[in-house]
Amino acid sequence: MHNFKNALAKAKSGEMLNRQEICALLAAGPEESEELFGAADRVRHDHVGDEVHLRAIIEFSNYCRKNCLYCGLRRDNHSIPRYRLTEQEILEAVKKARELGFRTVVLQSGEDLYYDAKTIAKLVETIKNRHDLAVTLSLGERSREDYLAWREAGADRYLLKQETADEHLFSIIKPDGNMQQRVQCLQWLKDLGYQTGSGNMVGLPGQTLATLAEDIILMRKLDVEMAGIGPFLPHPATPLKAAAPGSPALTLKTLAVTRLCLPQAHLPATTSLCTLTPDGRKLALNCGANVIMPNLTPAGVRDKYLIYPQKADIIEKPEAALNNIQALLTELARPPAQDYGHAKKPPGRSF
Ligand code: SF4
Repeated sequence: MHNFKNALAKAKSGEMLNRQEICALLAAGPEESEELFGAADRVRHDHVGDEVHLRAIIEFSNYCRKNCLYCGLRRDNHSIPRYRLTEQEILEAVKKARELGFRTVVLQSGEDLYYDAKTIAKLVETIKNRHDLAVTLSLGERSREDYLAWREAGADRYLLKQETADEHLFSIIKPDGNMQQRVQCLQWLKDLGYQTGSGNMVGLPGQTLATLAEDIILMRKLDVEMAGIGPFLPHPATPLKAAAPGSPALTLKTLAVTRLCLPQAHLPATTSLCTLTPDGRKLALNCGANVIMPNLTPAGVRDKYLIYPQKADIIEKPEAALNNIQALLTELARPPAQDYGHAKKPPGRSF
């Protein structure tokens, strides 16, 4: 059994951790966790600085062709009203984000083929022509040709979470797909020069510390530029409604270990963590996170995009959310970044 102290010393010296050592860090008790968080915070400071990047997220469609067991947007959930924003409505939300000072917009939806590759490419092009903004897409698994068209239209980044690196668990929670295809998509995105984001859920039923270690190892192997780590939260209209939620403590430990293993990555303080624990944002920023993604989805539809229940930001107005974030960043002496917040290293494939 690798002990915590040896594993942490190795991580601090910049050496690559193996699975057992990652597990030893994830198994940290309360006192050891404080040490782990301190180490992750220092690595964050040394490699990506103190600035916090704010990315405006616009959820433009809650239609989805897939049926993931954990997700409130799954196609078999007939209890939510579905919506699609028009191009004009999306562009208005983007304009608002720019006016509020954001330098990145994240366009996210369920896997909704209503928006074909051309429509998305035109949208990205219009945004890039009109605004000084980085564009992140998060539209799920699509063909290499679609990813290429959007990259050529000017998209800078793409988010596609692996959710779990355990092939068997993946096939259960995401019954429409398989891990190979997911990883293939991530490799295409890297090849095409996107700054690529993955991520995983903490506390999925059947998950172990070894699974979480594999998650971190997969993201390290893919050399992702971003990694979103959030707790599993059971949605009442899904087959996993009775499962226990993930633990905030283990989520924070996973975030901290990810920071140690991927020193240059952009790691958000996820909304799901803030939903689970009110001071989640502050805790995450103190153990490796350097990104916040406020919700700029128009208020009329925001409460219909519930992958998990009671998202922390469904009622708050963007202006009020920004004021709260500003106050927190002042308290933590972490300035909001003024630039696009691109990855520190050149994007591209390294596996
Ligand atoms: S997780 Fe994504 S792909 Fe799966 S049902 Fe939800 S929106 Fe669709």
